[in-house]
Amino acid sequence: MNNFEEYCTKFVQSVGAKEGAVSPQIVSSASFSYGDSETGEGIFNGSVKKPLYSRMGNPTTGKLESILAEMDGGIGAVATSSGMGATSLATLSLLEMGDEVISIGGLFGGTYSLFNETLKRFGVSTQFFDVDEIEAIEATITPKTKIIFLESVGNPNMRLPDIKKIADIANNAGVALIVDNTITPLSVAPLKLGADIVVYSTTKIITGNASALGGCAVFRAINEGEDKFKSARYAFMEKFIKKMGAMALIPNAKKRALRDFGMSANAHASYQTMLGLETLPLRLSRITQSVETIAKALDKEGFNINHPYLEKHPHHARYKKDFVNGCGTLLTIDMQTKEKAFAFLNNSKLATITANIGDSRTLALHMASTIYSDFDKETKEFLGITDGLIRVSIGLENPEDIINDFISAAR
Ligand SMILES: *Cc1c(COP(=O)(O)O)cnc(C)c1O
Repeated sequence: MNNFEEYCTKFVQSVGAKEGAVSPQIVSSASFSYGDSETGEGIFNGSVKKPLYSRMGNPTTGKLESILAEMDGGIGAVATSSGMGATSLATLSLLEMGDEVISIGGLFGGTYSLFNETLKRFGVSTQFFDVDEIEAIEATITPKTKIIFLESVGNPNMRLPDIKKIADIANNAGVALIVDNTITPLSVAPLKLGADIVVYSTTKIITGNASALGGCAVFRAINEGEDKFKSARYAFMEKFIKKMGAMALIPNAKKRALRDFGMSANAHASYQTMLGLETLPLRLSRITQSVETIAKALDKEGFNINHPYLEKHPHHARYKKDFVNGCGTLLTIDMQTKEKAFAFLNNSKLATITANIGDSRTLALHMASTIYSDFDKETKEFLGITDGLIRVSIGLENPEDIINDFISAAR
């Protein structure tokens, strides 16, 4: 397990300024005066690089975007009002009526209903697959497939995808691959594995303390020679590639999604997110180690734990090989019945009962009665939501304290 040493240096150095105010400045202005009309014209046509209006970009948010783009090796990033804002921005900027989406793994409840209900209303259809249905995924790609969407870790089913293999399929077919890397920032590098866009809910482990809702989409550079975004499948990209070259996915996302849907980040949230980033490597490396300790100890105590660190998990080998820096803060406990799950949660003195994950504190939630309460039986089965399922997001507490608390809560 790695301590993310590179990022320990990078984040604190890039968030803090070397001159003047050390902490990032919060520019909370919605609008910016151009001074003269020529400058205004230049800002609108892109020849002058100054803020236009905070819906389209804000200096505080811009600083966060450049740090997150560098974190993932992207050419740029667009921060958003929430993680769902980032997923909406990334998908809506590529989709039109009649298009098809392939969604693999997980799936986070909001993302599932975006694909299964909301985008359907706008004439976009989605087919859902488990991470290991590789042949069926390949066979489902048609000329209308615009997006393959993947979660780096199934939330809450804890199944792990072979990201490289799925990226190869997407790249061979010339289809965009979007990876939701919310659960595994730093530990998994989707762009390096062949993805085109990475989306985050920064609300979770990146900010890490429930102080700010936010999201971000990180984009790769368009290649100079051949590139899938230069194909007929993405004909609308042509004008952006002509004007902006390698950067083209950024203006496409800003003009086709941010400008018209307005899922823009606000400066205060961007500031809080940067404060979180400074300690992300430390928190993540501690928690991923705690998760393993806790999963093993509770499994030994007879708890029904789902985590790929455990040898009984079907993706244990993949965890050892491809997830050497862990797979985030989550594990699940199946208490068999709703009653037992409620009793456990109510008895625990450490777990905070909430829908969030990736916090400094240990958080827990009964899945079927909350996030998935209005999902039908088949969907719950597909997503692995059983009657007694509790999702736990391990925090910074002493792992021994958590183990002891959970053992006494289950009695
Ligand atoms: C929380 C979460 C989201 C949505 O993020 P919000 O900031 O709540 O909008 C998306 N994907 C995953 C995996 C999440 O955990």
